Amino acid sequence: MAAPGENLRINADRLWDSLMEMAKIGPGVAGGNNRQTLTDADSEGRKLFQKWCEEAGMTMGVDTMGNMFMTRPGTDPNALPVYMGSHLDTQPTGGKYDGVLGVLGALEAVRSMNDLGIKTRHPIVIANWTNEEGTRFAPAMLASGVFAGVHTQDWAYDREDAEGKTFGDELKRIGWVGDEEVGARKDKMHAMFELHIEQGPILEAEGKDIGVVTHSQGLSWTQVTVTGKDSHTGSTPMPMRKNAGLGMARILELVDEIAWSHKPHAVGAAGHIDVYPNSRNVIPGKVVFTVDFRSPDLAVIQDMEKRLKEGAKKICDDMGLGVEFEKVGGFDPVTFDEGCVTAVRNAAERLGYSHRNIISGAGHDACWINKVAPTAMIMCPCVDGLSHNEAEEITRDWAKAGADVLFHAVVETAEIVE
Ligand SMILES: [Zn+2]
Repeated sequence: MAAPGENLRINADRLWDSLMEMAKIGPGVAGGNNRQTLTDADSEGRKLFQKWCEEAGMTMGVDTMGNMFMTRPGTDPNALPVYMGSHLDTQPTGGKYDGVLGVLGALEAVRSMNDLGIKTRHPIVIANWTNEEGTRFAPAMLASGVFAGVHTQDWAYDREDAEGKTFGDELKRIGWVGDEEVGARKDKMHAMFELHIEQGPILEAEGKDIGVVTHSQGLSWTQVTVTGKDSHTGSTPMPMRKNAGLGMARILELVDEIAWSHKPHAVGAAGHIDVYPNSRNVIPGKVVFTVDFRSPDLAVIQDMEKRLKEGAKKICDDMGLGVEFEKVGGFDPVTFDEGCVTAVRNAAERLGYSHRNIISGAGHDACWINKVAPTAMIMCPCVDGLSHNEAEEITRDWAKAGADVLFHAVVETAEIVE
């Protein structure tokens, strides 16, 4: 496959300007963004992206989940498109780069191809996946999931936000229900590349420009309900208490222990905790919490789930407490396509950027698309690993390195026509 010359680079200033221009739509309260999915701001951001793509000579397709596909034709009418992209929606208190860098970095790659007169055999398509964040309509990566056949469209349309508005109604309201059948393209993709900020601290700490993403860790959510007996904190003697809060505390120690036992990649914590009745002078009679375990290795996730159940049962039996478990979410670890991962690593190498292999800690659209097409991800550092926060920050050089690598990996995969 022909690769672009090592001196061919994207235009970092133009990329940065576009990032800052997009950030003006749906501004946050602290310098970041609130451009949640299927809001008026989301629609406005989509229109700006559409305008930029059309100015770059691309044509738009939109599917029934609102996924946007902007196409730059190739020279071979029979060649399948090479995709790149990410998401333009943000958290309610989100940053300017999470997702957006992957979409506008892709746009910059196409703009640079235009500047440099690069033609490719395969068409190139930039995707903006609807509702990656899942903050307004759970779950995350909803529309790429429907596209890849993980969820049905009917189920997705029925997802409700906190005000009881449905995904389907809101997609219609903002005017982004397309006429393409969702997923119709999924068997006609040559490859997909997603550029994303790391959302973690590793690359910055090690001074690396590029993360070559080999895997994405899997996730398991187990909701645990511990039941005891609510009673007066003052007048109930210690031996007669059935303290569900204490049971939970011991289980959380166990969660930590289990995750450490699978170091360095496994992690575990409970970020959701409800205590009942949650009153200062009542011993908790019930606690409900969700244990979040993650690992790039499915066998490790299964082991962690098993040890949680056995260990928590023993803790609660010993304390005279009841315990129940419900699996409330999860997805399997992802191994990205070797050919696409190699294209990313080769691009970083050719361009002279420092790089290391990395495992994605968060879920991304690429994780679902990997089920239907050869896929890889490129990561660039973010300051202090901070993301899902308005203070999320990257440097212009990091954005440039990421977009350069995306540009090279995509052009190589789409095959330059000499
Ligand atoms: Zn993202």
